[in-house]
Amino acid sequence: MKTTELKIRYFGDSVLRKRAAKVELVTEEHRELLSCMARLMHDSKGVGLAAPQVGISECLIVVDAGNGLYKLVNPKITRRRGVQTNEEGCLSVPGVFVNVRRAKVIVVESLDHNGESLVFEAQGLLACVIQHEIDHLNAKLITDYASVVARLKLRKRIASLRKAGHEKRLPQST
Ligand code: ZN
Repeated sequence: MKTTELKIRYFGDSVLRKRAAKVELVTEEHRELLSCMARLMHDSKGVGLAAPQVGISECLIVVDAGNGLYKLVNPKITRRRGVQTNEEGCLSVPGVFVNVRRAKVIVVESLDHNGESLVFEAQGLLACVIQHEIDHLNAKLITDYASVVARLKLRKRIASLRKAGHEKRLPQST
């Protein structure tokens, strides 16, 4: 699989509103897909990418918040503490930024790209991005966090996004 074969799916695409399926067995195909996703994320100047964002409804995410690349299969948050609020963007909702309140520190249980069990603690930006990507697996988008007032403001922007379809997009984010 080549990076060029993967395309970012945008707001309005039904795959973004579908819960991703758990991976039963991590295969060579999953490893290739994770590598392609990582390349696409880096090329798009993003810090995270979830498989549904490239049209694949499986529990796979890649994250690179500046301290190393994580390729995670079936990631799950088992503990959370503290609070952080960041203005987040999303590669699937270009040009839209929403303040999102999330846990500051999380414990993640996952499989790595070889199917080995992986448990780690993440904090700050890394924790924020992992939570954002896991939201994608649960069919949740940053726009769901916007207040009613903010959503009204976003409505125009999103309508124009829908119109522009898949042509227009600004770089940045997850
Ligand atoms: Zn996103």
